[in-house]
Amino acid sequence: MLRDWRSAMKKLLLLLGGLLLAGLVSGQTAWVIAAGLFSYLVYTMLQLRRLHRWLYSPDASQSGQPPESLGLWGDVFDGIYQLQRRERDATNYLKSIIDRAQESTAALEMAVIMINRRGHLEWWNPAAERLLGLHRDHDRNQPVVNLLRQPEFVDYFESGDYNRPLNLNSPLTRDRTLEYQITWFGDGERLMLVRDITQLHRLETMRRDFAGNVSHELRTPITVITGYLETLLDNTDDLPARWERPLQQMYQQSRRMENIIRDLLTLTQLETKSVSRQRTAIDIDALLQEIRSDAEQLFADKKQTLAVDCHIAHHLQGNRNELYSALSNLVFNAAKYTQEKGNITIHCSEEAAGGLSIAVEDNGPGIEARHIPRLTERFYRVDESRSTDTGGTGLGLAIVKHVLARHNATLEIESTPGEGSRFICHFPALRMLS
Ligand code: ADP
Repeated sequence: MLRDWRSAMKKLLLLLGGLLLAGLVSGQTAWVIAAGLFSYLVYTMLQLRRLHRWLYSPDASQSGQPPESLGLWGDVFDGIYQLQRRERDATNYLKSIIDRAQESTAALEMAVIMINRRGHLEWWNPAAERLLGLHRDHDRNQPVVNLLRQPEFVDYFESGDYNRPLNLNSPLTRDRTLEYQITWFGDGERLMLVRDITQLHRLETMRRDFAGNVSHELRTPITVITGYLETLLDNTDDLPARWERPLQQMYQQSRRMENIIRDLLTLTQLETKSVSRQRTAIDIDALLQEIRSDAEQLFADKKQTLAVDCHIAHHLQGNRNELYSALSNLVFNAAKYTQEKGNITIHCSEEAAGGLSIAVEDNGPGIEARHIPRLTERFYRVDESRSTDTGGTGLGLAIVKHVLARHNATLEIESTPGEGSRFICHFPALRMLS
């Protein structure tokens, strides 16, 4: 290109030399040079006009060949043409990637929805129209909560906490269940994935109903058996002495079964009842004092010290019965598994992000690290003999986990075998009331 430029400059100098010579020969130097330069200007203007026409004609910049020209102008035309082609190739490549991404999202059964930082709908795939009834023509740029108005969805969307997905009836038909999962991306934008989990939900409901029905059906027979065994044990004088031990054991086991059924029914209720939107303000200190005094009565013979250290200015928003059940399970476990004269402390502290943590700590036998991730599974026990001795059902921590999840809270377990355990409930700021 530099050589072309040099040769063009040489040609221009030659032209000027020729004009000067012709001027000297004719004796009209100024006129000849002026006429020559004027012709050069006309030629340059003509080339510029061709370039302008080519660039601005409707189809030229898309695919048309550049005008034929020689020398420097030819190079300029070709250079612009090359640049255009490169840009066109890059655009086509990006377009093909976008087309492929759109084709693959269009083939998805799952709805994919992009929401901008103002919470307005930006883009969605065809499945979103099928599952949620969005309309391509008039829903773009609408606030998402204006189109999906179920209160549970609005709460979930506005909470900004998307650790867990939300399961909800479809806004179009009540007999389908949808799972909503939102993730943050970019600069405050959100990507929402929605899938139809009706089948899964039905199976889960069947499992829950089965457990609930079985427990319900077994409750009356077990209560009758326990009642009669109690009566028999009250009148052992009328019975042969060798019957006393078997009766004692039968009574103990039927009491255990009663406890299991009670816990299973509690779990079924926690799973089936939808989380109430009406929340009461709970005085956590008072609730913990009540649990402490209940534990002191239940485990009076163990002579343990039970202390509550909970001086917080805030109330907790939630369901009192459920929270009593969860926190008392932790405190009663601590008392149950800790040796006589052991120490149990319940400690509250406000967390940096405005939440609250309630820790139940004991200096009991502790739990080996390998058991900790499985403790909240139903019927999981660290030591079968230890918990059956203590009358445990293996369902207590499953109840705790469910109640906490219904309060947007989580359970953390720390333990050192031989030293003790600490069960910490973390409640988020949105559950705090001043
Ligand atoms: P259980 O009714 O058997 O107590 P949980 O679900 O409440 O069932 O607890 C599961 C297991 O976790 C218990 O069987 C017990 O082995 C262990 N565990 C719970 N709390 C404590 C604690 N404070 N100290 C030691 N082990 C505990």
